[in-house]
Formats: sequence, C-alpha cells, structure tokens
Amino acid sequence: MKLYFVLIITVCTVFFSKAQQRQFTLVIHGGAGTILKSNMSAEKEAAYRAALEKSLKAGYKILENGGKAIDAVEAAIMVLEDDPHFNAGKGAVFTNEGKNEMDAAIMDGNTLKAGAVASVTTIKNPITAARAIMDRSEHVLMVGKGAEKFAALQGCTIVDPTYFFTKERWEDLLKAKHEDSLKQNKLLYQPSLLKQPDNHDYKYGTVGAVALDSYGNLAAGTSTGGMTNKKYGRVGDSPIIGAGTYANNATCAISGTGWGEYFIRLVMAKSISDRMELAGMSLQDAANEMIMKKLPALGGDGGLIGIDKKGNIAMPFCTEGMYRGYIKSNGEMQIEIYKE
Ligand code: ASP
Repeated sequence: MKLYFVLIITVCTVFFSKAQQRQFTLVIHGGAGTILKSNMSAEKEAAYRAALEKSLKAGYKILENGGKAIDAVEAAIMVLEDDPHFNAGKGAVFTNEGKNEMDAAIMDGNTLKAGAVASVTTIKNPITAARAIMDRSEHVLMVGKGAEKFAALQGCTIVDPTYFFTKERWEDLLKAKHEDSLKQNKLLYQPSLLKQPDNHDYKYGTVGAVALDSYGNLAAGTSTGGMTNKKYGRVGDSPIIGAGTYANNATCAISGTGWGEYFIRLVMAKSISDRMELAGMSLQDAANEMIMKKLPALGGDGGLIGIDKKGNIAMPFCTEGMYRGYIKSNGEMQIEIYKE
C-alpha cells in the first residue's frame, strides 16, 4: 500500500514537472498603421517600447508561475489599456460624436469559450468585462449600457467617461473630421473620388495578445477604441469572434488590428484557423495569405499576431508598421515597431 502511494506521488511529480518544463510564449501588438521612424521622437519611441515591455512582462510572470494563457492574455492587455499611447482603454480614439466607445474580446482555445463587449463607455478595462462575460454569463457578446451594467455587477472597475480622454486622440478626431469635410466638398464636383480609399492609417492603435501556456493551451484577446471618427453605433472587428479575435487549441490564436470592416468581411482570424485546419497550411503561410494578399486585394489594411500550438509565431502587417513583441519561456524578448 505504502509502495503504491510512493509510486503515485513519483508519477505525479514527474508528470507535473514535465508540464512545467513545457515551453510557453506570449505575443502582443499595440496596433498597426503609418508608423514611420521619421515621425517618431526618441522619447515617444522609448515610451511605446517601455509599455510593450511592461505588458510582455506582466503576461510572462503569469505564464512563468504555471498560469494559464487566458490569464496572461488578459493581464498583458490590461497594461496596454491603462497606457494612453494605445487606442484601447485610456487613450481610446473618439467617435464622430466625440465619445470613447470601446470594444474588446477574449477567447480560450482550450474550451472555445469566448466573451466580448462592444460600444462600452465606462468600463476602465474592457478586456476584464469580456472575460467576465466568458466566465460568468451564458452569453458571448454584450453591448452598451447592458454590458456596462453586467460589468459593474461583476466587480469590473467603472470610471467616468472623461477618464478615457487624451489630447492627442482629440486632435486626431478634429483632423479626421476636417479630412471628411474636404472630401465631402470635393465629392460634389468629383464623384470619382468616392472610389479612392481614405487614409485610415493614423486611426488605428488597437491592442491585443495571444499566448501558448505550458499546458499547450492557446488564448487570444483584443481591445480597442475602434476607429477615429467612427459613426454612431459602429462596431469593429475586435469583439467579433472569428474576425479580429479567435483561439482554438487545434490550430492557432489570433488578434488583429487594422481597418475593421475588412477584417469582418474576410472573417480574418477564423479564415487563418481554417486554412491551417482544412488545408494543412502553416500559421505563417495562412496569416501571410490573408494579411498580405486577401486584405489589400479588397482595399483594406492592417496586421495581426498569431501563435500556433507548437509556439510558432506570425506577425504580418501590410501597413508601414505595427507595434509588436513577444516573450518566450527562456526569457527571450523582442519588441519591434517598424518594417524590418
Ligand atoms: N481594428 C480596429 C477597428 O476597426 C481598429 C484598430 O485596429 O486600431 O475597430
């Protein structure tokens, strides 16, 4: 009996230490867009890098202690939501009506459970509300006042909408409105201009994270203020499961950033997962095909981060740059902003 007991303990110890030894990886993004070195001051770049590093380290700490991918994703995103440099949480972009309306989603690749919020204006960290919906409701997506009520009942931090204000984003709105009015005037005389795409690049800045934990589970999350000057009630791709956010242990975890309407129309994240599952493509090939070919072919732009069950990473984008980075279980960390 005693011997039997010792044997079980030994087997369990070996099993759990093996699980602990398995590798984990966290990948994050802080949005894609026209991010040129020539437009960036050294101070600003350092601030972006510091925020991305803080986010990676927050997630790493969880994974290193044997935590789950879903927890690492949530923690990494919260850091970026709290940082005013990114278009999520504090620093979210403004709608046409001068409000901050945020969207977020989270998905667990192990259970295919997901939670999302859209058009919320008072939840300090929308990703925590998405998580609460996933864990503690029978729903996947809740919007507006209802989502805010649920979040408050679940203990998410509620703030006054003025908390999200930043001067830079307000100026982006004025710029976007000015460009819109110029376009409207021109259209009166030159309807052919309708066919020309807008410059949407400076309106991005969504944040996201994907992770593989030491148990082999994948998770993805995305949080955003959407796009500057978006019209009343507009919801982007970020909270749409399968468009801007998706995770499935059988294939990959994806978080997107870019012109959301195109990500929705392409069912971006799920299309990558399907290419892997049904056509046997690698994550890199599937992500490249969608971001570098299908997205621009339709007239959209943006990028994404992805990770597969083996820990392979993809971070393609068809814009000038994308704030991005990863950290692996051995501590190897990389943060990039511009094109190679
Ligand atoms: N994808 C987001 C949206 O369309 C914008 C972004 O990536 O910054 O809402």
